[in-house]
Amino acid sequence: MTAGQTRAWLAELAWSPALGLRRDVLIEASADRITGVVPDSSASALVATRLPGLTMPGLANAHSHAFHRALRGVTEAARGTFWTWRERMYEVAGRLDPGNYLALATAVYAEMALAGVSCVGEFHYVHHGPHGTPYADPNEMGRALIEAARRAGIRITLLDACYLSGGLSADGSQQPLEGTQLRFGDADGAAWASRVEALGPDATGSLGSHARLGAAIHSVRAVPPTQLPVVAVWSHRYGVPLHAHVSEQVAENRACLAAYRATPAEVLAEAGALGPRSTAVHATHLTDSDIELLAGSRCHVCMCPTTEADLADGIGRARALADEGSPLTLGSDSHAVIDLFEEARRVELGERLASQERGHFTAAELAAAASTIGHASLGWPDAGELAAGGLADFVTIALDSPRTAGAPRTAALESVIFGASAADVQNLVVGGLDVVSGGRHVLVGDVPAALAPAIGGVLC
Ligand SMILES: [Zn+2]
Repeated sequence: MTAGQTRAWLAELAWSPALGLRRDVLIEASADRITGVVPDSSASALVATRLPGLTMPGLANAHSHAFHRALRGVTEAARGTFWTWRERMYEVAGRLDPGNYLALATAVYAEMALAGVSCVGEFHYVHHGPHGTPYADPNEMGRALIEAARRAGIRITLLDACYLSGGLSADGSQQPLEGTQLRFGDADGAAWASRVEALGPDATGSLGSHARLGAAIHSVRAVPPTQLPVVAVWSHRYGVPLHAHVSEQVAENRACLAAYRATPAEVLAEAGALGPRSTAVHATHLTDSDIELLAGSRCHVCMCPTTEADLADGIGRARALADEGSPLTLGSDSHAVIDLFEEARRVELGERLASQERGHFTAAELAAAASTIGHASLGWPDAGELAAGGLADFVTIALDSPRTAGAPRTAALESVIFGASAADVQNLVVGGLDVVSGGRHVLVGDVPAALAPAIGGVLC
């Protein structure tokens, strides 16, 4: 849609945190912004495009490593742990270059769009060429990801990750980067900051209408305590998101405690890295005082339940975190599957398995995590809501599919969150433009035909 152009849609049913569940909702937009949301409208098909099904704010995939998509299926035949899986992941990381990563990420982001994702938080750490040699443009890989999101029609927050060391020794010393890890590293926090600066963000971290910049600390395994404040201070200067992997694995906690006599959450708090713009990714193995620290700072927690199950990480304490004040978000992380409805219901189902009781989260809480709160955590507070003035980003899910048919209209949101799959997404509008229409990607066309060669190009 060009500047000043107006469009209107009539949603059979629409839900957002502010709207609740309403029928016959007329959504009007001018250029990329919503100008009006009117429930119980009698607008005709002559003035508005009909959207049968349930329309809700676009989904925010708050934690992604796009290249991990290549590992889907190929790691499932093997036994092992997170750490053996990581060796296979490093092999794929070693084969990436700006050209093949552009093709792969475009296809993966197109798959996300088909699943209703309008915004991705890309936690990006494969920065440099083989052996750590910078490309002519040291941000060539990051720029490829930004371009991939543009081609796939979705928004991106490039969470550029600082990754300086290969792990922690029990005596607190940092192990050097080795092998593929050399591609992830900058010399120190200052070198990381100056490389990120070269991406050219404006004073608020914006990189244009579809892209924003954010900061990431890969983990306390990969960034020494002396360098953590450099990343935190840089994020504070621009007021941008600051994400970090936190306590995904028991082994990470053990190494951190042995090295620093503190948990990962405590180390990050000491460095000034926790606050309302922060996101702790996973936060699976927390102490009660870790929960108080994270939630007390109003730090978001990004749960990635399908990845956490796939990698045998464990079940995070979602309800306790939310009760204490941490807003929850969702990510498909390693892309074992890309389906935010599956991520959402697994937060509730994980609590049920752990507690042997039902009913910990409402569908509305889980839907907000998948959309409104996720956008806020990625630095897009004006997306993720169906309201005048917000960005015109929304998704429509079929209510007549084999998975969703038959539910009463009053239970449409519960039906979607607990029963729908990514295959039920019919339409996705981003910035007032059609990205998915009738279940087909408008820009990329045949997404499987884009995925297959792109994945084949990075597998051995
Ligand atoms: Zn991750």
